[in-house]
Amino acid sequence: MQDAYDVIVIGAGPAGYHAAIRAAQLGLSTACIDRSVDDAGEPILGGTCLNWGCIPSKALLDASHKFVEARTGFAELGIRTGAVEIDVPTMMARKNAVVKGLTGGIAQLFQGNGVTALAGSGRLLADRQVEFTARDGAVARLSAKHVILAAGSIPVQIPPAPLVDDIVVDSTGALSFPAVPGRLGVIGAGVIGLELGSVWSRLGSQVVVLEALEDFLPMADERLARDALRIFRGQGLDVRLGARVTEARVQGSGDARTVALTWQDASGTQSLEVDRLIVAVGRRPQSEGLLAADAGVTRNERGFIEVNEYCATGCPGVWAVGDLVRGPMLAHKGMEEGIMVAERIAGHKPLVNYAAVPSVIYTHPELAWVGKTEQELKADGRPYNVGAFPFAASGRALAANDTQGMVKILADAETDRVLGVHVLGAQASELIAQAVIAMEFDASAEDLGLTMFAHPTLSEALHEAALGVAGHAIHMVNRKKRG
Ligand code: FAD
Ligand code: NAD
Repeated sequence: MQDAYDVIVIGAGPAGYHAAIRAAQLGLSTACIDRSVDDAGEPILGGTCLNWGCIPSKALLDASHKFVEARTGFAELGIRTGAVEIDVPTMMARKNAVVKGLTGGIAQLFQGNGVTALAGSGRLLADRQVEFTARDGAVARLSAKHVILAAGSIPVQIPPAPLVDDIVVDSTGALSFPAVPGRLGVIGAGVIGLELGSVWSRLGSQVVVLEALEDFLPMADERLARDALRIFRGQGLDVRLGARVTEARVQGSGDARTVALTWQDASGTQSLEVDRLIVAVGRRPQSEGLLAADAGVTRNERGFIEVNEYCATGCPGVWAVGDLVRGPMLAHKGMEEGIMVAERIAGHKPLVNYAAVPSVIYTHPELAWVGKTEQELKADGRPYNVGAFPFAASGRALAANDTQGMVKILADAETDRVLGVHVLGAQASELIAQAVIAMEFDASAEDLGLTMFAHPTLSEALHEAALGVAGHAIHMVNRKKRG
């Protein structure tokens, strides 16, 4: 191990490993320190996203969706199956194999690009020195021209619901239940609560989701959030809003343990017994112990590292990216920040466009959006036009028997520039990329309307919604007849 590098990255999650690979591509000598280990205690790369986040959750979401389709959706299509059964150990083994393949892939990418992977803990000292504690406890002092902090985030815990074994769990535990819980409680109707609540509900759990806020998904467009809530409830997710949990008490012993849940809502004190409980009330930056007192980097009161729009901290040559800094805690946001920082270190001048970060909730239908919501535009007093198109009027959605939801486009009333796009529907996560590209290129709704879309596709709903902004969607009767 050499002791001086051009770049040292602390954290090999999506933000850190993108930064490290790009820095090495640009000819900088680069080391990436990560302390994550798998169940066998072996070092693993990829951080939360690959190991306990995006990838394992999507493996279970996709598998559980296929199970529901096979059990309840195929007959209508004229496909007869025998009894469809769930095999949780096989489902988990496949999920684990997908994760293993991808984390191993990062190790190969590091090797191929010349990134030195250091398994252990990193701590920033003064003058861009890094204290590296290897897995055997050996401590080394490394130095770098640039240090990129990418230590990510961990789940928030709340005093009324401390984690207990595999009974009261966070998202990591909920990705590995050994069997389908009969009754499952979820605290928090955010992204994780909805995604993992959906997984286990599809597999047969009776799921109750307790959300402290009165509003459902307040960060999403109100109209689509309302439609999504109705659909999710129809699927069996019992979402209770305005429910603040006051106690989660594990009772009984051995395999018979259950959780007595108590919460307050508008009607008073409520209670429920569940077999398992997922606590999904947000994540917080993993910045404790990351900085020596004289490191010269500022942490705010919530633990986030303070950075400017280029992810530079106040300390020259020290940068911070991903969940450790302000902005949405999303893998792709961290990836782009990591690449931006590596390129800035190499003297390039890229930017991250924070106005065009897509958000996706991978339920079925999926909910995806980019840019402003209608309620934000109203609050800003910014005049806008709306175009919306339901998948129920899409030939492809009808052919696929998957017609829930709609596309909604918000465009500036004066310039017609696209300000926000919201999609509730099958493959919304894929469709939203078109909207992100449109916004990156400063497209108007008319530009989208003038673009040719393949027929029959779900993407045509985006086209029709864009035409609808001007009041002339073809496959629906337009109430507003403009232009
Ligand atoms: P992380 O991925 O958290 O990685 C940080 C790494 O740094 C970890 O390996 C950690 O061990 C290591 N580390 C920390 N401190 C030190 C130290 N001092 N020394 C050495 N190593 C250290 N986002 C999406 O965009 N799409 C999704 O579908 C999605 N699904 C998710 C599902 C779940 C269940 C969860 C929990 C999260 C999901 N996320 C999703 C969020 C996404 O995982 C995070 O936004 C992303 O992983 C953050 O990347 P990061 O590189 O900043 O940090
Ligand atoms: P979240 O912020 O999305 O949702 C947490 C929810 O819990 C909120 O609605 C909050 O009001 C509620 N809550 C907080 N305290 C509560 C209490 N005491 N009782 C009841 N409800 C309470 O957080 P999350 O779902 O834990 O996800 C964490 C982060 O991980 C998210 O910010 C998201 O960016 C990221 N993530 C992204 C994806 C994705 O992109 N598809 C998937 C999973 C996670």
